[in-house]
Formats: sequence, C-alpha cells, structure tokens
Amino acid sequence: MSKRIFNFAAGPCTLPLSALEKAQAEFVDYQGAGMSLFEMSHRGKQYDAVHQAALSGLREVFNVPQTHDILLLQGGATLQFAMVPMNLMVEGKTAEFVNTGAWAKKAISDAKKLGSVKVIWTDEANKFTRMPRLDEIKPSADAAYLHITSNETIGGIEMSEYPSTGAVPLVADMSSHIMSRPIDVAKFGLIYAGAQKNLGPAGATVVIIRKELLARSKDSLPAYLSYQTHAPEASLYNTPPVFSIYMMKLFLDWVKENGGLKGMETLAIQRSDILYNAVDNSDGWYRCPVDKESRSRMNLVFRLPSEELEKKFLDEASKAEMSGLKGHRSVGGCRASMYNAMPVSGAERLAAFMAEFRKRNA
Ligand SMILES: *Cc1c(COP(=O)(O)O)cnc(C)c1O
Repeated sequence: MSKRIFNFAAGPCTLPLSALEKAQAEFVDYQGAGMSLFEMSHRGKQYDAVHQAALSGLREVFNVPQTHDILLLQGGATLQFAMVPMNLMVEGKTAEFVNTGAWAKKAISDAKKLGSVKVIWTDEANKFTRMPRLDEIKPSADAAYLHITSNETIGGIEMSEYPSTGAVPLVADMSSHIMSRPIDVAKFGLIYAGAQKNLGPAGATVVIIRKELLARSKDSLPAYLSYQTHAPEASLYNTPPVFSIYMMKLFLDWVKENGGLKGMETLAIQRSDILYNAVDNSDGWYRCPVDKESRSRMNLVFRLPSEELEKKFLDEASKAEMSGLKGHRSVGGCRASMYNAMPVSGAERLAAFMAEFRKRNA
C-alpha cells in the first residue's frame, strides 16, 4: 500500500485513489497496445475513445443540454480571463463584472485590456468577506455579458445560487467549486474551470458554452484563441492535453459511481459542516473571517488567536499528515480546501486535530 496523507491544498487537488490506481495499472502498457496512452497519436482509436468518454462524461454528469458545447482547452482558467472577453465582447457594449475577490480581480484586469468593462458590485471595502445577494446582481439590459466568480478560492466565499440575467449571457468562473453541486447549465452563457481544483490534474480547462455565442468570435482572432476553432473539432483542433483528459475521464467515472453532482454535494456538505462546526464550537478560539451565509464548502478559511499559534498549528498538522493548510500568502491564516475527492474522514481528522490542538494551547 502506498502512503497517502490528507491534502488540503487549494490546488492542485487530491484525486480519487481509484483513479490514481487505475492510471498506474494502465500506465506503461495501455490496454495491450504495447505503449502508454501518452505516447500514441491523439488521432488514433484508443485515445479517441478516452477523449469522447471525457466529453460524454461531462455532458452526463453536468446534464449539459444540446444548446451548449463542451470544450477542453489548455492555458488554465487564467487563459479564459482573456479568451472570454476576446470572444464575447461586442462593439459598443460593455462587459459587466461582479468583483468578489482575488480571482474576480484578475478576470477584470485582463478584460480591461481588451474592451469596455464595468464593475457592477464590489465588496472590496469589506475585504471581500461576502458574496452579493441575488438582488444585488443587476446587470444592464444591454451588457455584452455578466461575469461572476462563483467560488473565491483565496477569500473562502461561495455563491449558493446563481443570478438570472435574462438576455445578458451569464459567464461564470467555477474553477474551485465546479462539480460540487447540481447546476442548471441552461442558465449560463459560458462556464469555465481549470481542471486541477475539482476535476482532475492540471493541464485541461473545461469550457461549457451556449452554441449561439460562438457566432460572436471574430475571424480576426488567432486560431487557438477562438472558441469557433475548437467547437466544430470536438476540441481536437490541435494536440489536446492527453494525460489531463484521461485523468479527468477517470475522475468522472468515480463521480458517476458516487452519486453524480448530488452525491458530490452531499459529501461537500458533510465535510464542510464538520469543519465549520469545529470552528463555531471553539468559543471563538478559531475564527472564520467571512460572512456565515457566504462560507465556502470548498475553501474553508480560519484564523487562530495569533500568528505564532497559526505557525505552530500548521507545523503540527503537517507532522500529523495533513498538508496544504496554509492560507494564501496574500491573506495569511489557515485554509482547508476540501474538493470533491477529499474523503469525509479527512474533515473528521482535521476537526479532531483542531479540538486537540486548542486544548493544548488555549
Ligand atoms: C485557481 C483559480 C484560477 C486560476 O486557474 P489556473 O487554471 O491556474 O489558470 C482561476 N479562478 C479561480 C476561481 C481559481 O480558483
């Protein structure tokens, strides 16, 4: 048995053990081919089956309607900060943004380089400690699109409902909570997510786009940067990130075996309840700095009474085989990221450690 510790890092994420073991078993000689999947042509039969299974797995798990295409791209969610405005901005119209924190700001910054941008809501004055209520998200009727970041990985806040934006396409960066709750894809013009938080290893980016919007991509865009290039080619215009897509397919198999999006949501609620209860039942010794309604099920940020204690906590947690608990360098503190493949026993172990650590240090 390999040694496995609990990985609470904000990304890349922990992967299902069954997916890792399957990949290990087929790594060197892929299903009798005499070579690995990563050495063969991406246009051959064996890779094609993996590629199509990843696409159909996404369609099934997310219940993606035929009105939407699914693209598998490279460049991470970061490239989508640029590709979304490049493809979806419209002459004479403004792209509108909800500014919920560090990742929203990066999306806004790139979009500003590419066209007209308006921020319609921000909580910067309160250090981004809450998500907007639905009635606070009011895009103009003639906006090119509205962009939201539905889970802020660094701030630890998450939207539990998505706004209805009528004729204005809703664009969501779901990188850090995709596949952790049922969603109604029909509501969205475009959803994007880097795979490495909730879907697989780094290297692939999922884009789900309403087919109608493909007509917005201008011919002047370089080939790779246009959604129009990838959609008709089933994301095989150029060499795809074969390893990431293969692992994503195995991850999707595991999600299907574990109840799909509803199953993932149940696990996310169980894990996050265990941990937030550990914070809330500590007489204020552990503190969660964000608004209760906006607490993320994926990235749980918390503070201890002092920075010295935080350092000690992180050192001892690491020795107790719980890694990745340090908060982002921009905000400090602690952060437990518990993505789809984190077992509930990981949350239990951390909660028990927190109680025991407090007893020794309070
Ligand atoms: C990690 C993250 C990104 C950046 O993703 P890359 O795939 O590394 O480019 C963007 N948005 C959110 C919300 C993230 O958590």
